[in-house]
Amino acid sequence: MAELVVSGLVRAFDDVRAVDGIDFTVRDGEFLTLLGPSGCGKSTTLAAVAGLDRPDEGRISLGGTVFFDAASGVFVPPERREIGLVFQSYALWPHLTVRQNLEFPLKLRRIGRAERARRIEDALGLVEMTRYADRYPHALSGGQQQRVALARTLVYRPGLLLLDEPLSNLDAKLRERARTWLRHLQSQVGVTTVYVTHDQAEALALSDRIAVMNGGKIVQLADPRTIYDHPSDAFIADFIGSSNFLCGTVLGSDGGTVRVDLGERLELNAPSPRPLTPGTRVRVSVRPEQIGLVTPSDANGANVFAVEILERTFLGAHNTLEVQAGESRFRVECRAVPEGNHIHVHIPENAGIVFPQAADN
Ligand code: ADP
Repeated sequence: MAELVVSGLVRAFDDVRAVDGIDFTVRDGEFLTLLGPSGCGKSTTLAAVAGLDRPDEGRISLGGTVFFDAASGVFVPPERREIGLVFQSYALWPHLTVRQNLEFPLKLRRIGRAERARRIEDALGLVEMTRYADRYPHALSGGQQQRVALARTLVYRPGLLLLDEPLSNLDAKLRERARTWLRHLQSQVGVTTVYVTHDQAEALALSDRIAVMNGGKIVQLADPRTIYDHPSDAFIADFIGSSNFLCGTVLGSDGGTVRVDLGERLELNAPSPRPLTPGTRVRVSVRPEQIGLVTPSDANGANVFAVEILERTFLGAHNTLEVQAGESRFRVECRAVPEGNHIHVHIPENAGIVFPQAADN
């Protein structure tokens, strides 16, 4: 069983704690993504798992083999960890053909000729590059080079696959296709995988679970749907997908719902994970796609706002409207753009999450 267990990991550079005491487990065959803004400690974590960097504290083990343990001084060098690593720069050997690129790591491991040939054919088949076996890297596109880099890693059957922004050099269209393909490949091979990205769409599309990082810590670890629907703080609600933040003051609570005064006699009922006393300053996050347009005849219900359209943006499959109600400004997603600048919108009572303001700072 190749389960990766990382506990109490700390890595400081001068006075910056790049990784500040993180714990996570990647189950056998699982695809886990470390997601967060630039500088949050993702690559430092990955380098620690790969053995390219020595952490200050903590413990790392794979399938029961201890790679690193600060307490007992264990540190297994990277070449003895049998980990597959793919970075954004593919670093194929330019003077070797695709086949020779794949063969090299196998020769290093003293694998016999017949077995080498078999594994190379398997790996090229997996990444759909069989017919390019005799080409040199310069005669391949970026996406094809990336596939070869992956094949070169898979060929020696690593117990763990580490991918650091491997798709970021590809253009948007190719990147989306590579995503689907990579996900398919990973589940086919069944290798335990840690993926690093700052791209939330990529993380949502690829992962079994996502560890959201901020300031060297893991702030939420859950499956993509939970991270998107139930972000545990305002940072995550803002970072994953797109959110409106409506600022206001709690008027009262009723069960799991709070009534929020948004100013200028606008009120909103929204779910709150915790009870809040009247007077608490809050931010309510609402996704643009959760807000619906309503006809004037439905304009008197709860959570319906008269808004003015400030801007319309056409995005192909849908439009976004930048609207204003009182002091609050927010974005609304809609299929068809309404006529006129004065419309009504509805925020369902189960939409949005209420975060106390002090908790986000
Ligand atoms: P991410 O991969 O999330 O962008 P990193 O792990 O690369 O973040 O970096 C986390 C923090 O550690 C950043 O503040 C970065 O500047 C710092 N850092 C990373 N590597 C070094 C290093 N070798 N020397 C000094 N500071 C570093």
